[in-house]
Amino acid sequence: MSSIRVTVWNEFRHEKIDEKVRAVYPDGIHTAIASFLKGNFDVKTATLDEPEHGLTDEVLANTDVLIWWGHMAHGDVKDEIVDRVYARVMEGMGLIVLHSAHFSKIFRKLMGSTCNLKWREIGEKERIYVIEPGHPIAKGLPEYFEVPHAEMYGERFDIPAPDTQVFLSWFQGGELFRSGCCYHRGAGKVFYFRPGHETYKVFYQKEIQTVITNAVRWAAPVAGPTVTFGHRPEPIEDVTPYEDKSA
Ligand code: ZN
Repeated sequence: MSSIRVTVWNEFRHEKIDEKVRAVYPDGIHTAIASFLKGNFDVKTATLDEPEHGLTDEVLANTDVLIWWGHMAHGDVKDEIVDRVYARVMEGMGLIVLHSAHFSKIFRKLMGSTCNLKWREIGEKERIYVIEPGHPIAKGLPEYFEVPHAEMYGERFDIPAPDTQVFLSWFQGGELFRSGCCYHRGAGKVFYFRPGHETYKVFYQKEIQTVITNAVRWAAPVAGPTVTFGHRPEPIEDVTPYEDKSA
């Protein structure tokens, strides 16, 4: 088993109040995601209604990759916790943002844009194309795969251009969407992955599990240099300071 420490965060509200969602995810979306990751990583879960949303300084200090699912309660996430997660991403923690978490405070803060999109919920087919086949997140996938029943998300998706776009979705109704987007922010890596609507069995699908598993490995911190910023009065090389003697 890899030593990568994963925290799966879920707002865990739909499952408590909606029978239809509970039927699909009886123990919560976080538990479903944690279950398929457990064989490969050191996995814990955290939810919105825990103290500090389950994301204490200690939990985040011991998290290499944080997975985020939210939808109806983005506004209930305290800004102070968002700032804490943001600071950890800058330090190198990976962040995987799923589906409706495109509107989460943390994702919008990291993107600096509205993250708005078009949507429709009729359970149509989604075909996800791998458009960057050499990318680590594409490992083990076919050229394309299908989610039989999905909520449609359509362009324009108001995000900054991804550093790497791994997936592109086509929907039965005709729309397109940038479904797998990679970013570097500070020392951290961020991956947005589109599928994951709460009333469909998306997180039980093999290809979806493969993508999220690959994304954890990709987003995990690397032992890179510690970057410092600010004034450098002493040059690295010997340089004679310039003096204008013409005056
Ligand atoms: Zn949804």
